[in-house]
Amino acid sequence: MIQDTIAAISTALGEGGIAVIRVSGPAAVESVSNILKSRTPLADAPTHTVTYGHIAAPASGEIIEEVLVTVMKGPRSFTAEDVVEIGAHGGLVAVRKVLELVLEQPGVRVAEPGEFTKRAFLNGRIDLAQAEAVIDLIRSKSDRSYSVALKQAEGTLSRKIKALRHTLIELLAHIEVNIDYPEHDVTEMTSSYIKDSCGFAMEEIRRLLKTAAEGKILREGITTAIVGRPNVGKSSLLNALVQESKAIVTDIPGTTRDVIEEYITLSGIPLRLLDTAGIRETTDVVERIGVERSRSAAADADLLLLVLNHNEALHDDERELLAKLTGRQVVVIVNKSDLPAQLKLDEVSAALPESRIVMMSVLQEEGLEALEEAIRELFFKGQLESADLTYVSNVRHISLLNKASQALSEAVAATEDGIPIDMVQLDVRSAWELLGEIIGDTAGESLIDQIFSQFCLGK
Ligand code: GDP
Repeated sequence: MIQDTIAAISTALGEGGIAVIRVSGPAAVESVSNILKSRTPLADAPTHTVTYGHIAAPASGEIIEEVLVTVMKGPRSFTAEDVVEIGAHGGLVAVRKVLELVLEQPGVRVAEPGEFTKRAFLNGRIDLAQAEAVIDLIRSKSDRSYSVALKQAEGTLSRKIKALRHTLIELLAHIEVNIDYPEHDVTEMTSSYIKDSCGFAMEEIRRLLKTAAEGKILREGITTAIVGRPNVGKSSLLNALVQESKAIVTDIPGTTRDVIEEYITLSGIPLRLLDTAGIRETTDVVERIGVERSRSAAADADLLLLVLNHNEALHDDERELLAKLTGRQVVVIVNKSDLPAQLKLDEVSAALPESRIVMMSVLQEEGLEALEEAIRELFFKGQLESADLTYVSNVRHISLLNKASQALSEAVAATEDGIPIDMVQLDVRSAWELLGEIIGDTAGESLIDQIFSQFCLGK
C-alpha cells in the first residue's frame, strides 16, 4: 500500500513558456490546497477540472506564482492515484519555489526518477513492458520509432505475451490433471497436446523475435558512416541528406573524441550518422586524415555509404577500402554523375557484388531518391510500411523470449524422449514465468527498481 505523496517538476528544466509540477498520492489535493489561493477551494474542485489561482507561502502570504491547477482523482489518472498538476509560467526560480512549498507539506517527498510511472505499474494501471515503452517514447528519435514505442505503451506487445501465457497456463492445467489421474489414453493425448501448444508458442515467439532486429534499429537508428576519399562529395551528400531529412537534426558531441553524431530520418528510417565532424572537416584537412577517419568510422557502422567519384578512375586507397568492406552492408554512391565518366563500374561491382550502386549528382540534386530506396530495401525489404507495429525493441525482452523458447523446446524434446511428465511440466512452467517477466508479473523487485531508475525526473 502506497502511503506517501510524491512531487517533482515534470517538464524539462530550463527556460520555457510553462512548467508543470506534478504531485501524486493521498495528500496530493490537500498539500496543494494548503498553498493555493483560489476563488473555489481546491478540495471542492471536481475531478478533471482546472482551477485558477496563486501559489502563496502559507507563513508569509507572499505570492510566488500565478498558476492553473489540474485535479485528477484516482484511479482515472496517470498513476491511478490522486494527481494534481500545477501549471506555472514563470522562470526556473519560481517553479523551484513552488516545488519547495509543496515539499514542505506533511506527507510529501520529492519523487525519484520514474517514480510516477512506477506507481502506475505498481497500481496495476500499466505493465512493465508498457512502462519501458514510456522510456522509449521519451527517447525516440524518429516518427517511426515513436509510433512503435506508442504501440508498445498501449499494450500491443503485452497483449501478445498475455495470450501466449494463457496458452501455456491451459497446458499446465492439463498436465496437472494428468499427473493427478495418470491413465494411459490421457497420457497419449497429453503428449500431443504438449507438442502442439509448445510448437504454437515457439512459432509466436519466433515471429516476435524476427521483428527484434528491426525494433532495435528503430529505437536507436541505423549507425551509418559516409566514407570515401577527400573531394568525392561526402560533405555535400551529408548536407543534402540533412536537408532531405524530415526529422530534427541534432548534433551530439562525443565526450572523449571529437566525434559528432547526427540523427536524420529518411522515409521514416532513422539513421545515426557517425563522425559528421570528420566529414565536414575533410575539405580543409589534408588527404591522409580523411581516409584514416573513414576507416575508423567504417569499423563502427551498421551501414556504410561509400562515395566514389564518377569523374575519376579508382584510386589505390579506394581499392583498399573496397577490399575491407566485403561482407558489410554497403551502398555505393557514384557521385558527380553530371561529369564525364572515368570510373570503371565493373571493378566496383566485382569487389562488392552484393552492394547496390547508386548513380548520383549531389550538385544537381539527382539520385537521392534512389539512395533512400536502396537503404530501405537493404534493411526492411519493403516490409516496413505494411508491417504491424508490434516490434520487440528491448534487449531485456529479446533475451527473455529466447530463454522461453529454449525452455519450450526442451519440453518438447523431453516429451518425445518419454521423460516423466512432471519434468516436462517444469520446463513449461519456466517458459510461462520467463514470459511473465516481460510484462512484470513475475519480475523481482530489484529488476523493477533497475528499470525505473532509467527514467528522467518527474516522469
Ligand atoms: P568531400 O571532401 O568528400 O566531403 O567532398 P565535398 O562535399 O567537399 O565536395 C568536393 C567538391 O566536389 C566540391 O567542390 C563540391 O561542390 C563538388 N561536388 C560535390 N558533389 C558534386 C556533384 O555531384 N557534381 C559535381 N560536378 N561536383 C560535385
